[in-house]
Amino acid sequence: MKTLLPTSTAGSLPKPSWLAQPETLWSPWKLEGNELTDGKQDALRVSLHEQQQAGIDIVSDGEQTRQHFVTTFIEHLNGVDFEKRETVKIRDRYDASVPTVVGPVSRQKPVFVEDAKFLRQQTDQPIKWALPGPMTMIDTLYDAHYQSREKLAWEFAKILNEEAKELEAAGVDIIQFDEPAFNVFFDEVNDWGIACLERAIEGLKCETAVHICYGYGIKANTDWKKTLGSEWRQYEEVFPKLQQSNIDIISLECHNSHVPLELLELVRGKKVMVGAIDVATDSIETPEEVASTLRETLKYVDADNLYPCTNCGMAPLPRDIASAKLNALSAGAEIVRKELSA
Ligand SMILES: [Zn+2]
Repeated sequence: MKTLLPTSTAGSLPKPSWLAQPETLWSPWKLEGNELTDGKQDALRVSLHEQQQAGIDIVSDGEQTRQHFVTTFIEHLNGVDFEKRETVKIRDRYDASVPTVVGPVSRQKPVFVEDAKFLRQQTDQPIKWALPGPMTMIDTLYDAHYQSREKLAWEFAKILNEEAKELEAAGVDIIQFDEPAFNVFFDEVNDWGIACLERAIEGLKCETAVHICYGYGIKANTDWKKTLGSEWRQYEEVFPKLQQSNIDIISLECHNSHVPLELLELVRGKKVMVGAIDVATDSIETPEEVASTLRETLKYVDADNLYPCTNCGMAPLPRDIASAKLNALSAGAEIVRKELSA
């Protein structure tokens, strides 16, 4: 990446209201059949265009073709029964009715590869593609087959690796694994979570990222955040082992969070996607606020390794707000770029 401080988003962006109900997670599609297929592609084009208009350097599909960052991937796999549901606690936080693993899991065919090829055709800019991480996947399921979180995560890691290799072949430059569960299950992360992630990236030549956040700005997450105290030191538990891992980039929540930024020192040497946009509020950051978050992280991250980003996905936000936040991200990065090159 030649651009200094290349900007990107953590992943999801709002969908147009003709495609899905706005400001809603797991929003049902408003189209079906071929119209839905075409509608998703059109939305992807619009989302790409909005990122380009805002001057985002590393673009994505805005997750326009998926209903949810974890569920949609799992829907394409064998071994999971979506009719058979059990209530579990997701990330130790909120109850949800989830599908059941009823047999060996496998990928019958590529999940996002055609979408990635379509995005690749639309732009010469670097593209990033998000996949759910193995630990976050197991956390949204009831496992009646393996009866072992570690075993199921390992099977998912193998499946993700197949998908990732095909995404790489389709021309994706950065493959990102979303692992909000890394902020919750520290012992498991260190025992086998990071090992599973390394299994998922095995043999890849493109860059790889892990996104670890405090979640979308939905009520269950904001309530949970209130219980975390004034200093959020969760990253401290997993950073030392991540620093030693083969993952190239770590994507983190920084702006407006209570994460002590000096924790970034623990992943010194890694590239860091610094969340400089809060996705849990409709108020729009000023470029100066973005710049100030970036400047603060420059104390712990070398400029060459700093990738300005959003704290998390923006799917639940109103479109105009998300769009304004993208503009602020670009403008804030530009302020710091100028300072660095002065
Ligand atoms: Zn996130």
